[in-house]
Amino acid sequence: MNVYDSARMADVLAPLGYRPVDEPDGADMVILNTCHIREKAAEKVFSELGRLRRMKDRKAEAEDGRMILAVAGCVAQAEGEEIVARAPFVDMVFGPQTYHTLPEMVAKASRAAGSVLNTDFPAESKFDFLPEETASQGVSAFLAVQEGCDKFCTFCVVPYTRGAEFSRPAAQILVEAKRLVAGGTREINLLGQNVNAWHGDGPDGSSWALGRLIRELAEIDGLERIRYTTSHPRDMADDLIRAHAEVPQLMPYLHLPVQAGSDRILAAMNRKHTADDYRRLVDRLRTAKPDLAMSGDFIVGFPGESDADFAATLKLVSDIGYAQAYSFKYSSRPGTPAAVDGGQLPEDVKEARLSALQQLLNAQQVAFNHGFIGRSVPVLFDRIGRRNGQLLGRSPWMQSVHAEANERLLGRIVEVRVDAALANSMAGTVATGEFTTASFPRNPSFPPAQPLEASA
Ligand code: SAM
Ligand code: SF4
Repeated sequence: MNVYDSARMADVLAPLGYRPVDEPDGADMVILNTCHIREKAAEKVFSELGRLRRMKDRKAEAEDGRMILAVAGCVAQAEGEEIVARAPFVDMVFGPQTYHTLPEMVAKASRAAGSVLNTDFPAESKFDFLPEETASQGVSAFLAVQEGCDKFCTFCVVPYTRGAEFSRPAAQILVEAKRLVAGGTREINLLGQNVNAWHGDGPDGSSWALGRLIRELAEIDGLERIRYTTSHPRDMADDLIRAHAEVPQLMPYLHLPVQAGSDRILAAMNRKHTADDYRRLVDRLRTAKPDLAMSGDFIVGFPGESDADFAATLKLVSDIGYAQAYSFKYSSRPGTPAAVDGGQLPEDVKEARLSALQQLLNAQQVAFNHGFIGRSVPVLFDRIGRRNGQLLGRSPWMQSVHAEANERLLGRIVEVRVDAALANSMAGTVATGEFTTASFPRNPSFPPAQPLEASA
């Protein structure tokens, strides 16, 4: 979401003469777009600001003009006053719902000494005021369709920093998607903190949910792949599950966070689903789409989590079999209900549990990728690789694949035979022929027949 937001800020700033550069040193403006989800991410902001202050001073000393220094995003939203107090050399501090007002903020910051602070939740939606994208977003693009959250999981800052759940109108999304495809995009990743809660009125006046939106997007000529992230188990509607079976452009990969495997902890987290609800949901998804690769988010060391609770998380992971996942130590966030829970766990317990969980998830990821060695997969090449003559792309199951390939294959879906597989990437050889959406091969051995046993 922050990558998407940063690109849209660049769009807003383009008419003022700003264009993105690779390095902050010497830049006329530097915006730190920040994340508040865990303490570590938020702490980084202040250390980074110290580094940027020196660059700002150097530019002023060299009489090379002024560097406008800004902090945007969720840390700005949550800790705006503190940033202004601790780092008065910062010129602008603004939250995620305000970046359409950047031209006014820049004008104010250029005139006045002192920081411009803007952490409002404006009545109007920023999406109604953002300009068209100035540059092609590339072969694989993000498109924000939903923002904010009303679920209030007891550990999470999102409802406070991003605000209430909001869905962009379908017509606006379809126009943006068509523009992206006309600019060369072949894959769109629909974004939202709770993307599967998206709903809106279709251009025909009827009420649409995400499944319907995906079906409409699939009609866009030239759009080969559709993905969406991040979903909540409670919002996985029947039509969206059916879309996985029926829409060939919808990729067989789903990021569906569960957070924990213990019902006691899930209740304390206010997740409003049990571990078995999640198991049943994944069963239904895999019935609809047998080769669906699952991804998830996990939090270990939530206040009050016992050894038995943690064992239930390992059991759930073993039962599901993940192709990929993100796991975190619980991080106490100011203002959230879990932060004042008396059962906070010591760091070494969280550390040990995270390591055990990651060992298991990593083994599953390696096993999943190894299952592809010797097979051909359709890879959408979306980037130049680090090595000369190498292209990078993604399989339908979100695996990163690199191969020696001619640059003319950028933006195409190409058959690649997998020669080697690690946890985070696969290497392959370009085979002859290109895939079209209709000819994606089905992989009969998905999901792995025998879930891996917990190694911890
Ligand atoms: N809306 C998605 C859901 O509920 O499944 C998750 C979006 S959240 C921005 C991304 C992930 O950050 C969460 O799934 C959770 O695993 C992690 N996270 C959020 N708050 C956290 C906290 N206080 N400590 C550790 N991890 C956290
Ligand atoms: Fe945060 Fe996701 Fe829970 Fe919303 S549903 S509060 S974004 S973890």
